[in-house]
Amino acid sequence: VPAHEVQKLRCHRLVDIERHGKYLVLVFGDAAPHSLLLHLGMSGQIRLAPAATRPRWTLHEHWRLRFGPSMVRYVDPRRFGALLTCPRGRARAHPLLARLGPDPLEAGFGPQALSRASRGSRATLKSFLLDGRRVAGIGNIYACEACFEARIRPTARVHRLDRQAWNALCNALRVVLHRALAAGGTSIRDYVDARGEPGWFQHELRVYGREGRPCSVCSTAIRVRRDAGRSTYYCPGCQRSVPSPRGG
Ligand SMILES: [Zn+2]
Repeated sequence: VPAHEVQKLRCHRLVDIERHGKYLVLVFGDAAPHSLLLHLGMSGQIRLAPAATRPRWTLHEHWRLRFGPSMVRYVDPRRFGALLTCPRGRARAHPLLARLGPDPLEAGFGPQALSRASRGSRATLKSFLLDGRRVAGIGNIYACEACFEARIRPTARVHRLDRQAWNALCNALRVVLHRALAAGGTSIRDYVDARGEPGWFQHELRVYGREGRPCSVCSTAIRVRRDAGRSTYYCPGCQRSVPSPRGG
């Protein structure tokens, strides 16, 4: 985004921050010309610090926004995420957001919305969950954990899932995301929150990164499959390819 577009937001008050999938929308007061839309990329971090201090991590800083005495900095040692403007109140219509599938933490999300999102797809459950146009905001770690929580194999085909499976999956997504939020996120590589604090959900992971270790439910050794650079962890003991009659 050109700097002069951001300059136009000077003196406008930040009134809300929305999240849609992996995008954040910074909404300013009524008179603001636009909102800011940002994506953190794979490893980007938003850091909040007093504007007066010069933090040691400015080396990989891509942009900063000053809010009174505080400075918000976007830091990413790898590829840049995105900082764009979008018309105020119309973020959902932005081309990047309009394509997003339902978000498990948004109102109105339920098993119907989830199974509707799978229509016409014969993908595996894991790739369905990772496809932001089908389901918004789910990365590899949470996809693995949600499949485990729902007791369904990540390799199950979505067109084979029945209503019980969609119910289980819907609950699993919410449970896993709420637990992760409560734990402050998952710090496997470099995730930290706005104050630089790591999350603790990595200590609560039940399958991700636990290859060869016993399943916390049935003690079977956790397995891993690697396709296209992504690792899929699952328990062969309690995650079924076809949902069990009880739905797990
Ligand atoms: Zn198990």
